[in-house]
Amino acid sequence: MSEQDEAFRDRIATVNEKGKRVWIFAKKPSGPYYNKRKIVSYFLLALLFAAPHIKIGSEAFLMFNVLERKFVILGKVFWPQDMYLFAVLLIIGVVFVILFTIIYGRLFCGWVCPQTIFMEMVFRRIEYWIEGDWSDQKKLDKEPWHSKKIFKKSLKHFVFWMISFFISNTFLAYIIGSDELWKIQTDPVGKHLGGFTAIIIFTYVFYGVFAFLREQVCTTICPYGRLQGVLLDKNSMVVAYDHVRGENRAKIHKGEDRKATGKGDCIDCFQCVHVCPTGIDIRNGTQLECINCTACIDACDHMMEAVGQDKGLIRFVSENGIKNRTPFQWTKRVKAYTLLLAGLIVALAILLISRKDIETILIRQRGSTYQITDDNLVSNIFEVNLINKTHSKKKITFGIKEKDAIVEQIGNDIIISGGKQVKERLLVKIPNSALELGKKKIQIDIYADGELIETVKTKFIGPIL
Ligand code: SF4
Ligand code: SF4
Repeated sequence: MSEQDEAFRDRIATVNEKGKRVWIFAKKPSGPYYNKRKIVSYFLLALLFAAPHIKIGSEAFLMFNVLERKFVILGKVFWPQDMYLFAVLLIIGVVFVILFTIIYGRLFCGWVCPQTIFMEMVFRRIEYWIEGDWSDQKKLDKEPWHSKKIFKKSLKHFVFWMISFFISNTFLAYIIGSDELWKIQTDPVGKHLGGFTAIIIFTYVFYGVFAFLREQVCTTICPYGRLQGVLLDKNSMVVAYDHVRGENRAKIHKGEDRKATGKGDCIDCFQCVHVCPTGIDIRNGTQLECINCTACIDACDHMMEAVGQDKGLIRFVSENGIKNRTPFQWTKRVKAYTLLLAGLIVALAILLISRKDIETILIRQRGSTYQITDDNLVSNIFEVNLINKTHSKKKITFGIKEKDAIVEQIGNDIIISGGKQVKERLLVKIPNSALELGKKKIQIDIYADGELIETVKTKFIGPIL
Protein backbone atom coordinates (compact mmCIF):
# COMPACT_ATOMS: atom_id res chain seq x y z
CA MET A 1 0.00 0.00 0.00
CA SER A 2 1.20 3.50 -0.75
CA GLU A 3 1.67 6.13 1.94
CA GLN A 4 -1.52 7.80 0.75
CA ASP A 5 -3.45 4.54 1.01
CA GLU A 6 -2.20 4.11 4.56
CA ALA A 7 -3.15 7.67 5.55
CA PHE A 8 -6.26 6.41 7.33
CA ARG A 9 -3.97 5.02 10.01
CA ASP A 10 -2.74 8.50 10.92
CA ARG A 11 -5.80 9.14 13.05
CA ILE A 12 -8.89 7.28 14.24
CA ALA A 13 -12.03 7.53 12.12
CA THR A 14 -13.86 9.64 14.68
CA VAL A 15 -11.33 12.47 14.69
CA ASN A 16 -10.86 14.91 11.76
CA GLU A 17 -7.70 16.65 10.49
CA LYS A 18 -8.23 19.44 13.00
CA GLY A 19 -8.43 16.96 15.86
CA LYS A 20 -12.16 17.48 16.34
CA ARG A 21 -14.63 14.69 17.08
CA VAL A 22 -16.50 13.33 14.06
CA TRP A 23 -19.93 12.25 15.27
CA ILE A 24 -20.90 8.79 13.99
CA PHE A 25 -24.37 8.40 12.51
CA ALA A 26 -24.41 4.63 12.00
CA LYS A 27 -26.99 3.20 9.63
CA LYS A 28 -29.45 0.83 11.29
CA PRO A 29 -28.10 -2.68 10.70
CA SER A 30 -30.25 -5.60 9.64
CA GLY A 31 -29.63 -9.18 8.60
CA PRO A 32 -29.01 -12.65 10.03
CA TYR A 33 -25.97 -11.68 12.14
CA TYR A 34 -27.81 -8.70 13.61
CA ASN A 35 -30.79 -10.91 14.47
CA LYS A 36 -28.52 -13.38 16.23
CA ARG A 37 -26.82 -10.55 18.09
CA LYS A 38 -30.21 -9.34 19.27
CA ILE A 39 -30.99 -12.76 20.77
CA VAL A 40 -27.58 -12.95 22.50
CA SER A 41 -28.02 -9.37 23.76
CA TYR A 42 -31.52 -9.95 25.15
CA PHE A 43 -30.26 -12.99 27.03
CA LEU A 44 -27.22 -11.16 28.43
CA LEU A 45 -29.25 -8.07 29.36
CA ALA A 46 -31.80 -10.22 31.20
CA LEU A 47 -28.95 -11.97 33.04
CA LEU A 48 -27.20 -8.69 33.86
CA PHE A 49 -30.30 -7.07 35.32
CA ALA A 50 -31.55 -10.17 37.14
CA ALA A 51 -28.27 -11.54 38.59
CA PRO A 52 -27.97 -9.30 41.68
CA HIS A 53 -31.65 -9.86 42.52
CA ILE A 54 -31.75 -13.66 42.14
CA LYS A 55 -31.19 -15.47 45.44
CA ILE A 56 -29.59 -18.84 46.01
CA GLY A 57 -30.59 -19.67 49.56
CA SER A 58 -30.07 -16.38 51.38
CA GLU A 59 -27.28 -15.22 49.07
CA ALA A 60 -27.35 -13.26 45.81
CA PHE A 61 -26.52 -14.99 42.53
CA LEU A 62 -23.79 -12.37 41.99
CA MET A 63 -22.49 -9.57 44.21
CA PHE A 64 -19.17 -7.71 44.20
CA ASN A 65 -19.06 -5.68 47.39
CA VAL A 66 -15.68 -4.00 46.99
CA LEU A 67 -16.39 -1.72 49.95
CA GLU A 68 -16.61 -4.61 52.42
CA ARG A 69 -14.38 -6.87 50.30
CA LYS A 70 -17.15 -9.46 50.15
CA PHE A 71 -18.03 -11.20 46.91
CA VAL A 72 -20.80 -13.63 46.07
CA ILE A 73 -20.49 -15.81 42.99
CA LEU A 74 -23.30 -18.25 42.17
CA GLY A 75 -24.56 -17.92 45.77
CA LYS A 76 -21.15 -18.70 47.32
CA VAL A 77 -19.68 -16.02 49.58
CA PHE A 78 -16.02 -15.07 49.16
CA TRP A 79 -14.24 -13.12 51.90
CA PRO A 80 -10.84 -11.39 52.03
CA GLN A 81 -9.39 -14.78 53.09
CA ASP A 82 -10.28 -16.02 49.59
CA MET A 83 -8.24 -13.34 47.86
CA TYR A 84 -5.74 -15.97 46.71
CA LEU A 85 -8.65 -17.54 44.82
CA PHE A 86 -9.38 -14.23 43.13
CA ALA A 87 -5.73 -13.86 42.20
CA VAL A 88 -5.88 -17.31 40.55
CA LEU A 89 -9.19 -16.43 38.89
CA LEU A 90 -7.66 -13.20 37.60
CA ILE A 91 -4.67 -15.02 36.12
CA ILE A 92 -6.94 -17.62 34.49
CA GLY A 93 -9.14 -14.78 33.20
CA VAL A 94 -6.23 -12.92 31.62
CA VAL A 95 -4.81 -16.09 30.01
CA PHE A 96 -8.30 -16.95 28.75
CA VAL A 97 -8.81 -13.51 27.17
CA ILE A 98 -5.39 -13.58 25.51
CA LEU A 99 -5.85 -17.09 24.05
CA PHE A 100 -9.42 -16.38 22.99
CA THR A 101 -8.37 -13.19 21.21
CA ILE A 102 -5.44 -14.83 19.43
CA ILE A 103 -7.80 -17.40 17.91
CA TYR A 104 -11.19 -15.74 17.65
CA GLY A 105 -10.23 -12.06 17.48
CA ARG A 106 -12.32 -9.36 19.08
CA LEU A 107 -15.60 -11.27 19.00
CA PHE A 108 -16.13 -10.56 22.70
CA CYS A 109 -16.30 -6.79 22.01
CA GLY A 110 -19.05 -6.98 19.44
CA TRP A 111 -21.20 -9.70 20.94
CA VAL A 112 -20.68 -9.89 24.72
CA CYS A 113 -19.17 -6.65 26.07
CA PRO A 114 -21.79 -4.69 28.10
CA GLN A 115 -20.56 -1.42 26.54
CA THR A 116 -21.42 -2.62 23.02
CA ILE A 117 -24.64 -4.33 24.07
CA PHE A 118 -25.95 -1.22 25.80
CA MET A 119 -24.69 1.13 23.08
CA GLU A 120 -25.82 -0.80 20.03
CA MET A 121 -28.79 -2.77 21.33
CA VAL A 122 -30.34 -0.29 23.75
CA PHE A 123 -29.27 3.34 23.32
CA ARG A 124 -28.75 3.39 19.55
CA ARG A 125 -32.03 1.58 18.96
CA ILE A 126 -33.86 4.17 21.06
CA GLU A 127 -32.18 6.81 18.91
CA TYR A 128 -33.46 5.12 15.73
CA TRP A 129 -36.91 4.95 17.29
CA ILE A 130 -37.00 8.66 18.21
CA GLU A 131 -34.84 10.34 15.56
CA GLY A 132 -35.10 7.88 12.68
CA ASP A 133 -32.33 6.13 10.72
CA TRP A 134 -28.87 7.62 10.18
CA SER A 135 -29.85 9.98 7.31
CA ASP A 136 -32.76 11.43 9.34
CA GLN A 137 -30.45 11.85 12.35
CA LYS A 138 -27.85 13.62 10.21
CA LYS A 139 -30.49 15.91 8.75
CA LEU A 140 -31.97 16.67 12.17
CA ASP A 141 -28.54 17.52 13.50
CA LYS A 142 -27.89 20.08 10.76
CA GLU A 143 -31.26 21.76 11.15
CA PRO A 144 -31.57 24.88 13.30
CA TRP A 145 -33.35 24.39 16.62
CA HIS A 146 -37.11 24.19 16.12
CA SER A 147 -39.91 22.75 18.26
CA LYS A 148 -39.81 19.27 16.68
CA LYS A 149 -36.03 19.03 17.07
CA ILE A 150 -36.21 20.25 20.67
CA PHE A 151 -38.92 17.69 21.39
CA LYS A 152 -37.02 14.78 19.81
CA LYS A 153 -33.69 15.64 21.40
CA SER A 154 -35.26 16.25 24.81
CA LEU A 155 -37.24 13.01 24.64
CA LYS A 156 -34.13 11.06 23.60
CA HIS A 157 -31.99 12.47 26.38
CA PHE A 158 -34.76 11.99 28.93
CA VAL A 159 -35.10 8.30 27.95
CA PHE A 160 -31.29 7.95 27.95
CA TRP A 161 -31.15 9.43 31.45
CA MET A 162 -33.90 7.15 32.72
CA ILE A 163 -32.17 4.04 31.36
CA SER A 164 -28.90 5.25 32.85
CA PHE A 165 -30.71 5.62 36.18
CA PHE A 166 -31.94 2.04 35.84
CA ILE A 167 -28.41 0.80 34.98
CA SER A 168 -27.00 2.80 37.90
CA ASN A 169 -29.42 1.08 40.33
CA THR A 170 -28.44 -2.32 38.95
CA PHE A 171 -24.76 -1.43 39.19
CA LEU A 172 -25.25 -0.51 42.85
CA ALA A 173 -27.16 -3.75 43.47
CA TYR A 174 -24.01 -5.59 42.34
CA ILE A 175 -21.95 -3.63 44.86
CA ILE A 176 -24.12 -3.41 47.97
CA GLY A 177 -26.69 -6.15 47.28
CA SER A 178 -30.34 -5.89 46.30
CA ASP A 179 -31.60 -5.74 49.92
CA GLU A 180 -29.49 -2.68 50.74
CA LEU A 181 -30.47 -1.09 47.44
CA TRP A 182 -34.13 -1.65 48.25
CA LYS A 183 -33.65 0.24 51.53
CA ILE A 184 -32.13 3.19 49.64
CA GLN A 185 -34.99 3.13 47.17
CA THR A 186 -37.78 2.96 49.76
CA ASP A 187 -36.49 4.77 52.88
CA PRO A 188 -36.49 8.58 53.11
CA VAL A 189 -33.60 10.08 51.10
CA GLY A 190 -31.96 11.58 54.20
CA LYS A 191 -31.47 8.12 55.70
CA HIS A 192 -29.19 6.95 52.88
CA LEU A 193 -27.69 10.16 51.56
CA GLY A 194 -24.44 8.40 50.53
CA GLY A 195 -26.24 5.64 48.62
CA PHE A 196 -28.59 8.10 46.96
CA THR A 197 -25.67 10.31 45.89
CA ALA A 198 -23.89 7.25 44.47
CA ILE A 199 -26.97 6.38 42.36
CA ILE A 200 -27.13 9.91 40.94
CA ILE A 201 -23.37 10.07 40.25
CA PHE A 202 -23.38 6.67 38.48
CA THR A 203 -26.49 7.70 36.52
CA TYR A 204 -24.62 10.70 35.11
CA VAL A 205 -21.53 8.58 34.41
CA PHE A 206 -23.59 6.05 32.40
CA TYR A 207 -25.55 8.82 30.72
CA GLY A 208 -22.31 10.56 29.74
CA VAL A 209 -20.86 7.32 28.38
CA PHE A 210 -23.85 6.30 26.27
CA ALA A 211 -25.14 9.71 25.21
CA PHE A 212 -21.82 11.42 24.44
CA LEU A 213 -18.70 9.27 24.80
CA ARG A 214 -20.10 6.25 22.92
CA GLU A 215 -17.70 4.43 20.55
CA GLN A 216 -14.77 6.41 22.01
CA VAL A 217 -14.82 3.94 24.92
CA CYS A 218 -13.95 1.10 22.50
CA THR A 219 -11.57 3.00 20.24
CA THR A 220 -9.56 5.08 22.69
CA ILE A 221 -10.26 4.17 26.33
CA CYS A 222 -10.69 0.39 26.67
CA PRO A 223 -7.28 -1.27 27.31
CA TYR A 224 -8.46 -4.52 25.74
CA GLY A 225 -9.13 -2.69 22.48
CA ARG A 226 -5.66 -1.10 22.57
CA LEU A 227 -4.09 -4.54 23.02
CA GLN A 228 -5.42 -5.90 19.73
CA GLY A 229 -2.31 -4.88 17.85
CA VAL A 230 -0.15 -7.27 19.87
CA LEU A 231 -2.68 -10.06 20.32
CA LEU A 232 -3.81 -10.60 16.75
CA ASP A 233 -1.74 -12.31 14.11
CA LYS A 234 -2.31 -13.41 10.52
CA ASN A 235 -4.15 -16.55 11.63
CA SER A 236 -6.56 -14.81 14.01
CA MET A 237 -10.18 -14.91 12.93
CA VAL A 238 -11.49 -11.38 12.44
CA VAL A 239 -14.23 -9.61 10.53
CA ALA A 240 -12.31 -8.95 7.30
CA TYR A 241 -12.83 -7.74 3.78
CA ASP A 242 -11.73 -10.23 1.12
CA HIS A 243 -9.51 -7.85 -0.82
CA VAL A 244 -8.42 -10.62 -3.22
CA ARG A 245 -11.99 -11.04 -4.35
CA GLY A 246 -13.16 -7.45 -3.84
CA GLU A 247 -10.45 -5.44 -5.65
CA ASN A 248 -10.44 -3.57 -7.97
CA ARG A 249 -13.52 -2.08 -6.41
CA ALA A 250 -15.77 -0.09 -8.70
CA LYS A 251 -19.39 1.03 -8.98
CA ILE A 252 -21.64 -1.42 -10.77
CA HIS A 253 -23.33 -0.69 -14.07
CA LYS A 254 -26.31 -2.51 -15.46
CA GLY A 255 -25.48 -5.58 -17.52
CA GLU A 256 -21.69 -5.18 -17.30
CA ASP A 257 -19.33 -8.15 -17.23
CA ARG A 258 -17.15 -7.18 -14.26
CA LYS A 259 -14.63 -9.98 -14.77
CA ALA A 260 -14.03 -8.98 -18.36
CA THR A 261 -13.37 -5.40 -17.32
CA GLY A 262 -11.01 -6.50 -14.51
CA LYS A 263 -13.25 -5.21 -11.75
CA GLY A 264 -13.50 -6.92 -8.37
CA ASP A 265 -16.66 -7.92 -6.53
CA CYS A 266 -16.77 -4.81 -4.34
CA ILE A 267 -19.29 -2.45 -5.90
CA ASP A 268 -18.05 0.47 -3.78
CA CYS A 269 -21.52 1.07 -2.32
CA PHE A 270 -20.12 2.10 1.09
CA GLN A 271 -22.88 0.19 2.91
CA CYS A 272 -20.25 -1.49 5.11
CA VAL A 273 -18.96 1.94 6.11
CA HIS A 274 -22.41 3.41 6.72
CA VAL A 275 -23.41 0.69 9.23
CA CYS A 276 -20.12 0.70 11.11
CA PRO A 277 -20.67 1.99 14.68
CA THR A 278 -17.01 3.01 14.97
CA GLY A 279 -16.97 4.77 11.61
CA ILE A 280 -14.23 2.76 9.88
CA ASP A 281 -13.88 1.38 6.40
CA ILE A 282 -13.15 -2.32 6.90
CA ARG A 283 -11.82 -2.48 3.33
CA ASN A 284 -8.67 -0.75 4.62
CA GLY A 285 -7.82 -3.91 6.55
CA THR A 286 -7.96 -4.92 10.22
CA GLN A 287 -8.05 -1.84 12.43
CA LEU A 288 -8.04 -1.47 16.19
CA GLU A 289 -11.37 0.40 16.03
CA CYS A 290 -13.14 -2.70 14.66
CA ILE A 291 -15.17 -4.29 17.44
CA ASN A 292 -16.15 -7.31 15.31
CA CYS A 293 -19.84 -6.45 15.58
CA THR A 294 -20.47 -8.08 12.16
CA ALA A 295 -22.85 -5.29 11.05
CA CYS A 296 -20.75 -4.80 7.89
CA ILE A 297 -21.05 -8.52 7.05
CA ASP A 298 -24.85 -8.21 7.01
CA ALA A 299 -24.70 -4.99 4.98
CA CYS A 300 -22.31 -6.40 2.39
CA ASP A 301 -24.11 -9.76 2.11
CA HIS A 302 -27.31 -7.84 1.40
CA MET A 303 -25.60 -5.89 -1.41
CA MET A 304 -23.98 -9.02 -2.85
CA GLU A 305 -27.37 -10.73 -2.97
CA ALA A 306 -28.90 -7.68 -4.61
CA VAL A 307 -26.35 -7.71 -7.45
CA GLY A 308 -26.38 -11.51 -7.81
CA GLN A 309 -22.91 -12.22 -6.40
CA ASP A 310 -21.83 -14.72 -3.76
CA LYS A 311 -22.15 -13.56 -0.15
CA GLY A 312 -19.12 -13.39 2.15
CA LEU A 313 -17.08 -10.59 0.56
CA ILE A 314 -16.79 -9.40 4.14
CA ARG A 315 -16.75 -12.34 6.51
CA PHE A 316 -15.25 -13.86 9.61
CA VAL A 317 -11.89 -15.07 8.33
CA SER A 318 -8.15 -14.81 9.02
CA GLU A 319 -5.72 -12.79 6.92
CA ASN A 320 -4.02 -16.01 5.81
CA GLY A 321 -7.43 -17.49 5.05
CA ILE A 322 -8.02 -14.70 2.54
CA LYS A 323 -4.53 -14.97 1.04
CA ASN A 324 -4.59 -18.76 0.69
CA ARG A 325 -8.30 -18.92 -0.19
CA THR A 326 -9.02 -21.32 2.67
CA PRO A 327 -12.08 -21.29 4.96
CA PHE A 328 -11.83 -21.52 8.75
CA GLN A 329 -9.80 -24.61 9.61
CA TRP A 330 -9.40 -26.53 12.83
CA THR A 331 -5.62 -26.38 12.71
CA LYS A 332 -3.49 -27.97 15.43
CA ARG A 333 -2.94 -24.52 16.93
CA VAL A 334 -6.67 -23.70 17.04
CA LYS A 335 -7.44 -27.12 18.55
CA ALA A 336 -4.68 -26.80 21.16
CA TYR A 337 -5.71 -23.28 22.21
CA THR A 338 -9.41 -24.22 22.31
CA LEU A 339 -8.58 -27.26 24.45
CA LEU A 340 -6.55 -25.04 26.74
CA LEU A 341 -9.46 -22.60 26.98
CA ALA A 342 -11.82 -25.46 27.90
CA GLY A 343 -9.25 -26.64 30.49
CA LEU A 344 -9.12 -23.16 32.00
CA ILE A 345 -12.91 -23.04 32.27
CA VAL A 346 -12.92 -26.44 33.99
CA ALA A 347 -10.13 -25.30 36.36
CA LEU A 348 -12.16 -22.20 37.17
CA ALA A 349 -15.31 -24.24 37.84
CA ILE A 350 -13.41 -26.69 40.08
CA LEU A 351 -11.87 -23.82 42.05
CA LEU A 352 -15.27 -22.27 42.67
CA ILE A 353 -17.15 -25.49 43.41
CA SER A 354 -14.51 -27.06 45.66
CA ARG A 355 -14.21 -24.04 47.92
CA LYS A 356 -15.43 -24.94 51.43
CA ASP A 357 -17.97 -22.89 53.41
CA ILE A 358 -15.94 -23.37 56.60
CA GLU A 359 -12.17 -23.36 56.30
CA THR A 360 -10.32 -25.26 59.00
CA ILE A 361 -6.67 -25.34 60.01
CA LEU A 362 -5.90 -27.80 62.80
CA ILE A 363 -2.39 -28.18 64.23
CA ARG A 364 -0.88 -29.46 67.46
CA GLN A 365 -0.25 -26.52 69.78
CA ARG A 366 3.19 -25.11 69.15
CA GLY A 367 5.77 -26.04 71.79
CA SER A 368 3.40 -28.45 73.56
CA THR A 369 4.05 -32.09 74.23
CA TYR A 370 1.84 -34.95 75.47
CA GLN A 371 0.43 -35.47 78.95
CA ILE A 372 -0.78 -38.59 80.76
CA THR A 373 -4.22 -38.08 82.28
CA ASP A 374 -5.57 -39.57 85.53
CA ASP A 375 -7.61 -42.13 83.60
CA ASN A 376 -4.37 -43.31 81.94
CA LEU A 377 -5.00 -41.73 78.55
CA VAL A 378 -2.44 -39.75 76.56
CA SER A 379 -3.56 -36.21 75.74
CA ASN A 380 -2.44 -33.61 73.16
CA ILE A 381 -3.59 -30.02 72.82
CA PHE A 382 -4.52 -28.84 69.32
CA GLU A 383 -5.13 -25.35 67.96
CA VAL A 384 -8.01 -25.02 65.57
CA ASN A 385 -8.49 -22.00 63.34
CA LEU A 386 -11.97 -21.76 61.79
CA ILE A 387 -13.23 -19.29 59.19
CA ASN A 388 -16.96 -19.14 58.50
CA LYS A 389 -17.27 -18.12 54.84
CA THR A 390 -21.07 -18.11 54.81
CA HIS A 391 -23.38 -15.31 55.91
CA SER A 392 -25.04 -17.26 58.73
CA LYS A 393 -23.94 -18.23 62.27
CA LYS A 394 -22.55 -21.75 62.64
CA LYS A 395 -22.14 -23.88 65.77
CA ILE A 396 -19.01 -25.99 65.50
CA THR A 397 -18.54 -29.34 67.23
CA PHE A 398 -15.90 -32.06 66.90
CA GLY A 399 -15.65 -35.84 66.83
CA ILE A 400 -12.84 -38.37 66.51
CA LYS A 401 -12.77 -41.64 64.60
CA GLU A 402 -10.33 -43.49 66.93
CA LYS A 403 -11.74 -46.20 69.20
CA ASP A 404 -11.96 -45.11 72.88
CA ALA A 405 -10.57 -41.68 71.99
CA ILE A 406 -12.09 -38.43 73.24
CA VAL A 407 -12.04 -34.92 71.81
CA GLU A 408 -12.96 -32.03 74.12
CA GLN A 409 -13.28 -28.34 73.51
CA ILE A 410 -11.32 -26.13 75.89
CA GLY A 411 -13.61 -23.22 76.62
CA ASN A 412 -17.16 -22.30 75.59
CA ASP A 413 -19.22 -23.58 72.66
CA ILE A 414 -17.79 -22.44 69.37
CA ILE A 415 -20.29 -20.26 67.51
CA ILE A 416 -18.92 -18.30 64.54
CA SER A 417 -20.82 -15.48 62.87
CA GLY A 418 -20.82 -15.20 59.06
CA GLY A 419 -17.51 -13.97 57.69
CA LYS A 420 -15.78 -14.28 61.06
CA GLN A 421 -12.76 -16.23 62.21
CA VAL A 422 -12.31 -18.08 65.51
CA LYS A 423 -9.23 -19.64 67.15
CA GLU A 424 -9.88 -22.30 69.79
CA ARG A 425 -8.08 -25.17 71.50
CA LEU A 426 -9.02 -28.84 71.59
CA LEU A 427 -7.95 -31.56 73.95
CA VAL A 428 -7.62 -34.98 72.33
CA LYS A 429 -7.19 -38.09 74.52
CA ILE A 430 -6.20 -41.51 73.21
CA PRO A 431 -5.41 -44.81 75.03
CA ASN A 432 -1.69 -45.37 75.14
CA SER A 433 -2.15 -48.80 73.58
CA ALA A 434 -3.38 -47.17 70.35
CA LEU A 435 -0.02 -45.48 69.71
CA GLU A 436 2.73 -47.05 67.62
CA LEU A 437 6.25 -46.03 68.57
CA GLY A 438 4.87 -43.00 70.41
CA LYS A 439 2.82 -41.54 67.56
CA LYS A 440 -0.36 -41.98 65.61
CA LYS A 441 -2.14 -40.41 62.68
CA ILE A 442 -5.63 -39.42 63.82
CA GLN A 443 -8.69 -38.07 62.04
CA ILE A 444 -10.83 -35.36 63.61
CA ASP A 445 -14.35 -34.75 62.31
CA ILE A 446 -15.63 -31.18 62.22
CA TYR A 447 -19.38 -30.55 62.31
CA ALA A 448 -21.22 -27.30 61.54
CA ASP A 449 -24.72 -27.26 63.06
CA GLY A 450 -24.47 -31.03 63.45
CA GLU A 451 -23.52 -31.65 59.82
CA LEU A 452 -20.12 -33.18 59.05
CA ILE A 453 -18.23 -30.64 56.94
CA GLU A 454 -14.66 -31.88 57.03
CA THR A 455 -12.38 -34.59 58.36
CA VAL A 456 -8.89 -33.32 59.16
CA LYS A 457 -5.89 -35.67 59.45
CA THR A 458 -3.23 -34.76 61.99
CA LYS A 459 -0.42 -36.31 64.05
CA PHE A 460 -0.79 -37.31 67.71
CA ILE A 461 2.24 -37.93 69.94
CA GLY A 462 2.77 -39.92 73.14
CA PRO A 463 5.41 -41.83 75.12
CA ILE A 464 7.48 -44.51 73.35
CA LEU A 465 7.00 -47.67 75.36
S1 SF4 B 1 -15.80 -2.85 10.59
FE1 SF4 B 1 -17.63 -4.13 10.61
S2 SF4 B 1 -17.35 -5.51 12.33
FE2 SF4 B 1 -15.87 -3.86 12.55
S3 SF4 B 1 -16.91 -2.41 13.89
FE3 SF4 B 1 -17.31 -1.76 11.79
S4 SF4 B 1 -19.24 -2.76 11.26
FE4 SF4 B 1 -18.49 -3.75 13.09
S1 SF4 C 1 -20.69 -3.31 1.40
FE1 SF4 C 1 -19.50 -4.80 0.28
S2 SF4 C 1 -19.72 -4.17 -1.80
FE2 SF4 C 1 -20.36 -2.44 -0.62
S3 SF4 C 1 -18.51 -1.22 -0.38
FE3 SF4 C 1 -18.60 -2.57 1.38
S4 SF4 C 1 -17.37 -4.32 0.74
FE4 SF4 C 1 -17.87 -3.21 -1.11
